[in-house]
Amino acid sequence: MTAKKDEYFHAIKLIESKCTGCTKCVRVCPTKALRVRNGVVELDSNRCIDCGKCVIECPFGAIQTIADDISAIENFKYKMAIISTSFAGQFPSHIGYKTAKKALLSLGFDEVAEEAMVTVKMSGIIREYIKNHKEIRPIISSNCPSIVRLIQLRFPSLLPNILHLEAPMSMLSVYFRKKICEEQNLKENEVGIFLIVPCISQVTAVHQPEGTYKSLEDGAISIQGIYSEIITNLMKNDNQNDDNEIDIYPKGLSWAISGMEAEEVNDSNLKTMAVSGVENAINILAKIEDQQIENFDYIVMNSCTKGCVGGILNIEDPFIATSRIRSLIRNAKDKEFNDEYFEDMYHQGKFNVPILEPRSIMALDEDIKIALNKMNRIDEIVKKLPGLDCSACGSPTCKTLAEDIVEGKAELSDCIVLHRKKQHDNFPKEEEK
Ligand code: SF4
Ligand code: SF4
Repeated sequence: MTAKKDEYFHAIKLIESKCTGCTKCVRVCPTKALRVRNGVVELDSNRCIDCGKCVIECPFGAIQTIADDISAIENFKYKMAIISTSFAGQFPSHIGYKTAKKALLSLGFDEVAEEAMVTVKMSGIIREYIKNHKEIRPIISSNCPSIVRLIQLRFPSLLPNILHLEAPMSMLSVYFRKKICEEQNLKENEVGIFLIVPCISQVTAVHQPEGTYKSLEDGAISIQGIYSEIITNLMKNDNQNDDNEIDIYPKGLSWAISGMEAEEVNDSNLKTMAVSGVENAINILAKIEDQQIENFDYIVMNSCTKGCVGGILNIEDPFIATSRIRSLIRNAKDKEFNDEYFEDMYHQGKFNVPILEPRSIMALDEDIKIALNKMNRIDEIVKKLPGLDCSACGSPTCKTLAEDIVEGKAELSDCIVLHRKKQHDNFPKEEEK
């Protein structure tokens, strides 16, 4: 499962046979990536940021998620899982986080690591980065791939503001691949690194070979996709509760919850803020771009409401998962990940990433005259449309219908209101009969 060259990969698939053309998804997409044409949903791959809102909204299951199957690990000699912080919130206390983590070994992985290993250290690294980059404000967290793509798409002037370091799970992938190859005398392609993820945005980050998230991993398995196998395995093997030999890092789980990363980075001398939900992120990014916001040092944004616990590939309700994770953090014994090899890699710049390229939403035309002409035509069409933004035409707003018409992807007659008006005007009046 990889993206074809010059084509954006997305971890959603459209099932045309299930689509009723109701346009619910069209209305909810924050980047206007969906249309209904000829009665079925279509995706503009360039605009999609993999937030998953359309998957939640569709009542007919016509938009479904994509992730790797666990069988993909069989292609490698050494198999490693790196679990996201939200994983810990999915299991009730009678199972427990440590037991669930250990169960992954029984499913065929040789080693299991977790994002939480490095988040505490990462908070310190980010603090140092903020202090060393006083010329950039605010610095925006790079941890949520949907937010990174949103900035590429709608706020390209803010690309230099993104923290130019790999996200924790990508750092761990780089670190473990090198370490395992050296210790086990294996070639890089013999080591399979798989992320266990809470959202489609992370699946896309693994399979999209451009940007901050280079393909550092070999696959992304959803928490939903592996959950029942873990539970079945635990029911078969009672001895799973004997989990002394596996380490966990509960303190580092905090990044699963919106607000906590921003708190931890803040040493009381910084001004930080946390934002969750795509629409909220869009509002704040617009304010930053228009310089209508006070000067924050660091802003953490998550496209999922409540943070990664709100990812659509989780099993558990985000409120319940948050409560469990908070309890694990409260009772945490201070286990810390201290590794010179990791430190050396960080100081050698192995986790640095370049400034990302923008993604263009709609280049009207390379020729400025033609582009201006198209803009004028869009304005003229908008004036003719009713301005109701009802989506009945299959485009999300009247403005996007006008853009689609100019691009030759729709017609004025697609507007139901105009169509009805025309029919009404042509209908013989009582006195004319
Ligand atoms: S929500 Fe979108 S994908 Fe689902 S049936 Fe309606 S138009 Fe089709
Ligand atoms: S995943 Fe998000 S951005 Fe992509 S089509 Fe669905 S709602 Fe739009």
